[in-house]
Formats: sequence, C-alpha cells, structure tokens
Amino acid sequence: MIDKAKVRQAVALLLEGIGEDPGREGLRETPDRIARMYEEIFEGMDQNPREVLEKTFEASNSGIVLEKDIVFYSICEHHLLPFYGKAHVAYLSGGRVVGLSKLARTVEIFARRPQIQEQLTVQIADSIMEYLKPEGVMVMLEAEHMCMTMRGIKKPGALTVTLAVRGAFENDPHLQEEFWRMMGR
Ligand code: ZN
Repeated sequence: MIDKAKVRQAVALLLEGIGEDPGREGLRETPDRIARMYEEIFEGMDQNPREVLEKTFEASNSGIVLEKDIVFYSICEHHLLPFYGKAHVAYLSGGRVVGLSKLARTVEIFARRPQIQEQLTVQIADSIMEYLKPEGVMVMLEAEHMCMTMRGIKKPGALTVTLAVRGAFENDPHLQEEFWRMMGR
C-alpha cells in the first residue's frame, strides 16, 4: 500500500528543494494530487501476476500464442520519469493457455512499479514461465524514455528495444523465426 501521507510530505519538500513555495495557490493541491496519482501508477507494487496467470484452460490445438502491441506505461526508477511503448508477448503452449487479456494484465502489473526496461522484460517472461508453465516464452519491449528525450541526450522518438527469450524459444531457431514472422518483421 502506498503511504500517501509520506508521499505528500516528500512532494512538498521536493517543491521547496527546487526553490518553489508549496503554499502558493497553484501548488497547494499538488502533493495530494501526486499521492493519489502514485496510488494508480504504482498499483503494481501490491499485485502478484500469479493470480492472473494461474487461471488457465486446456487447449488441444495450441502453438505459438502472440499478443502484440500491448501498450504500457512505466516509470524509470533512475529518474522517476515515464517510459512507455509496446510489449509483444509470445508463448508456446504446453497444453494450457490463458485468456489474452491476462498477458496484457501481467505486463501492467510489472509496468506499474519503479522499473528499468530490461528488468520489466525479464519479469514478464519469467512470471509467464513460472505460473503458466509453457514450453517457452519470448517477450520484446519497445519504449521511449522521457529521461532520454526531455533531458540528457535528447533524442525524441528513439526506441529502446529489449528482448527476453526462455525455454523452447532459446533452443529452437525456427521458433524464433516464427516469432519474427508473426510480428511481421
Ligand atoms: Zn531514466
């Protein structure tokens, strides 16, 4: 659970720290507004993908299941600025599948935490391996990082691409080819 009182105090202090007056009219509600917003954008802190991924059902005719273009928003843990983009999640069923919305839900649970993109990619792949127990998983994330576009190297539109490959996808190049074919690349 987010400690909203603590977040309110911290934001007021932060505003003071940058030389602002947290008491002025435009800022008076800001600490509370941010505390409420953090409850939403960090709600993944309290959530476990197990509950989402363990509701599986049998599928006799299964192969690669790919859910692509799952839009996600996350917060970079180094700068507390957003990074956002698309996740593409594929798994090779071991006889059981989950509802497609559950893959998007899993992405969201991990995205709504302070994150780095590499770790987010790995956590999605590993949790699907652990709870859904498929033959293999392949997860690709493409994201734009505000900490790269509004400061630092300032490269708007630059995409960071990360990949996590597990199980059968690791060992069988044909399965990886199939993933890229299904992705249309
Ligand atoms: Zn950053």
